[in-house]
Amino acid sequence: MKQVESIASLRELIGKEKRDGKRISFVPTMGALHDGHRSCINIADKHGDVLVASIYLNPTQFGDGEDLSRYPADLSRDLDLCRSWGCDVVFTPTSEAMYPVPQTTWIEVGEIALPLCGRSRPGHFRGVATVVAKLFNAVEPDVAVFGQKDAQQALVIRAMVRQLDFPVELRLSPIVREEDGLAISSRNAYLSAEERVQAVGLSRGLEAGIESMRAAGSTAESVCDAARARIRREGIERIEYVELLDAASLRELPAIAGKIILAAAVHVGSTRLIDNRVVVVGEGGALEPALLF
Ligand code: AMP
Repeated sequence: MKQVESIASLRELIGKEKRDGKRISFVPTMGALHDGHRSCINIADKHGDVLVASIYLNPTQFGDGEDLSRYPADLSRDLDLCRSWGCDVVFTPTSEAMYPVPQTTWIEVGEIALPLCGRSRPGHFRGVATVVAKLFNAVEPDVAVFGQKDAQQALVIRAMVRQLDFPVELRLSPIVREEDGLAISSRNAYLSAEERVQAVGLSRGLEAGIESMRAAGSTAESVCDAARARIRREGIERIEYVELLDAASLRELPAIAGKIILAAAVHVGSTRLIDNRVVVVGEGGALEPALLF
């Protein structure tokens, strides 16, 4: 496995592989790696010849007062994991390499970035889209894998790829969960033992919301109410949002049908957690878990 820190040496390395006809697969990460990242990396491995991961804690997607300075990074541990997961190249740029001059060029994807996390994290998806565009330009991947855990992020990247003609095929990993259902996240490391017990209430709440869709006459509002009630019952007091939306557009649903996403963000102590469930509502109300795309 090669670790590369500069865009120039990355381009040289990848250019050679591309000239040899190799297909480049790519997983961008912010480090503090876990089994969710491993799942993305495994999928990327299946769809390319040269497996590239990046580890870069991107400051432009963090707002003031967010957790940039306490993010649980550990580069040597992450590099060991990348090696054991079969990565061929790990790109670990410094901020000087990623942002050599103050960034004044931004990618704003518009509508899809506005609801859900876009409301409480202004500028977040602009930072995400911009850094992913920069990483795509540096890596020039044929395929890139993202996690459904960050569903809105995946939709933002898809909009960017489509509208700016990036020649990159996007693939998704399903959400990897702890045994009790909590979606795995680097931020779970912030939780105290007591908060960890409460945190599972988020996935249980979403499950309760989805289950409530089976009841006759359920509406987006009743589904969200059922999810909220369960989340509260599990001891989580601060709910930022619970919303049931169309899974492609993140627009409000005229009726519970098609592919839909129940997404939520909560705060457990000082930790903000997000999770979602995507299902296809079939004929007769059958519910099939699904990938966003
Ligand atoms: P991050 O390091 O948080 O930027 O995440 C890097 C990639 O891993 C993103 O595409 C995430 O959506 C994905 N990811 C994070 N957690 C999970 C999880 N629990 N299951 C699947 N993918 C995940």
